[in-house]
Amino acid sequence: MTDHPLRLIGVLRAIGILTVLVTIASCPNGRAAAPAQNAMPEVPHDAHSYAVPQSARVTHVSLDLTPDFETHKLSGTATLSITRAPNARQVVLDTRDLTIRRVTDGRGATLTFEVGPAKAFLGSPLTITLPEAGNTLAIEYETAPSAAAVQWLAPVQTAGKKLPFLFTQGEAVLTRSWVPTQDSPGIRQTYGATIRVPSGMRAVMSADHVPPDAGEKDAQGRTAFRFSMTKAIAPYLFALAVGDIAFEPIGKNTGVYAEPSVAGKAASEFAEVDQMMAAAERLFGPYRWGRYDILVLPPSFPYGGMENPTLTFATPTVLAGDRSLVNLVAHELAHSWSGNLVTNATWDDFWLNEGFTTYIEGRIMEELRGRAYADMLRVGGRQDMQAAVREVGGPESPDTRLHLELTGKDPDAAMGGVAYEKGAAFLQTVESIVGRTRLDAFLRDYFDRFAFQPMTSTRLVALMNDKLLQPGEADRIGIQKWIFEPGVPPNAPPVQSEALEAVDAQVATWKNGGATSALQTTKWSTQEWLHFLRALPETVPSARLAELDRAFAFSQSGNSEILFAWLKIAIRNRFQPAFPALEKFLLSQGRLKFIAPLYADLEKTDWGRKIAIEIYRRARPTYHFVSTNTIDQTLKWREGQ
Ligand SMILES: [Zn+2]
Repeated sequence: MTDHPLRLIGVLRAIGILTVLVTIASCPNGRAAAPAQNAMPEVPHDAHSYAVPQSARVTHVSLDLTPDFETHKLSGTATLSITRAPNARQVVLDTRDLTIRRVTDGRGATLTFEVGPAKAFLGSPLTITLPEAGNTLAIEYETAPSAAAVQWLAPVQTAGKKLPFLFTQGEAVLTRSWVPTQDSPGIRQTYGATIRVPSGMRAVMSADHVPPDAGEKDAQGRTAFRFSMTKAIAPYLFALAVGDIAFEPIGKNTGVYAEPSVAGKAASEFAEVDQMMAAAERLFGPYRWGRYDILVLPPSFPYGGMENPTLTFATPTVLAGDRSLVNLVAHELAHSWSGNLVTNATWDDFWLNEGFTTYIEGRIMEELRGRAYADMLRVGGRQDMQAAVREVGGPESPDTRLHLELTGKDPDAAMGGVAYEKGAAFLQTVESIVGRTRLDAFLRDYFDRFAFQPMTSTRLVALMNDKLLQPGEADRIGIQKWIFEPGVPPNAPPVQSEALEAVDAQVATWKNGGATSALQTTKWSTQEWLHFLRALPETVPSARLAELDRAFAFSQSGNSEILFAWLKIAIRNRFQPAFPALEKFLLSQGRLKFIAPLYADLEKTDWGRKIAIEIYRRARPTYHFVSTNTIDQTLKWREGQ
């Protein structure tokens, strides 16, 4: 995932608007101690699931769901296949805010069930009494309009403005709010689905499409789309989107789903996806998921991207027009190995997903654009790492460990940015000691050997000792320290970029009065432009900013990252000629990473509140509630303002 809600915590905390509700829930008792009753496959204990997989575990989920865009509910049936120990009398599932209407054995016989008390972020256990024999459960249910995983967009929040849209976001523990199942990353399940949508709309999922591709009319006049995921995945990767969605192919097994006005542009932006795929396969072994498509979400999508298998969900703000922000796709594609194939067994080891992925993202971009380009990304990554460490309270903070202890904590509020860049720095350190050839061979074997399996930090360390490291190397790396202790060990290999150092030299000259026309920028990439903007002094006279804008047209930039960096400078210096661009940017997209800091920066000044409120009044109906929830607090928004 990129822009994981928790990666944003730093941003939000820095601007003083985050209320992190860490609710200490009592750990469900007695589950870890349950005796192994038979040869049920072992699943690591997960403090964030009520499931008792040693007794009965879900192996397949078959959904038949109808979204209602008026009431904001999904309703229908989840038919589960389970395996059970011989003496198992009940199965325990995870649910959150679901209304369970009826449970049967799949042949019509009613089964008794009980929905336990709801706990913060964990939801409620659904305990079903099993029949004497049989491994099928059919659960009739509906979701709540406030279901944490399901986001309903009004037409005004889409690019086309005509039809509503919905999408789901399952990571970390949200799938239970739309699918009653065992919602633990260690309990992998295959799934199938029939999704019945209003005529004129299309459903897509993180699964293979079952023909016909255009769906089939059902008895109620809806269009039924069918899906099948035959590979067992972690349930946080179940994903659905419904809306006015068109398809544009890129390669033989790759393409883009998006609103019709966006699909063509997106396919051209992501044209390199086949090269990325070839690079990733060359390095880390075969892609095992069949197709790889990218769903570009409507402008109000509050996040960066989510690696739903076969179908990455992505923000439209990566469509820069010049393919300069596609490392987001490299990141989500890399998750097809680290995360989706070999998966963190519990959220304590979230870094096994994100740290490995961030490292691989760098390697894919290096194959695609060369070492110098990848080094620029790595320099940025190290800056992000230092920022992430500061945000959680500095290097002594236990939150800077890679392996976390999240029992009793909401994983969606406790997994921070450290996992991404400290995790990548750990693998860079291993690489610096064992060399690339040996590390690559190890990683390839790791993805082969543990494909479709859960992984833990302890297991990884044992594997590295067994398969990778020669005597003395574990100590030279300091594996235990890197993974289980706070802070960043000093042996991370330095990352350097000659290109960015050259930018620094030019900024220094410019700061000392050097002419804007003397800046040598013709070959600059997005990374160099961003480095330039971030290196400018806190205070820059308006005349100098006007010079820069005339020379480089920052206010007209179609690159969301560059425009964002520029608008922050404009607010900091009250550079009014850029304010129309600021207004346009805030009105045209709702990615939280961009809009939250800009509103907060305006609010912080003694002149910007009026501007912020005026823009927000118009923009607010187009934003997602994840965004308005945050910005309402920043601006102390009241209806009628
Ligand atoms: Zn990720």
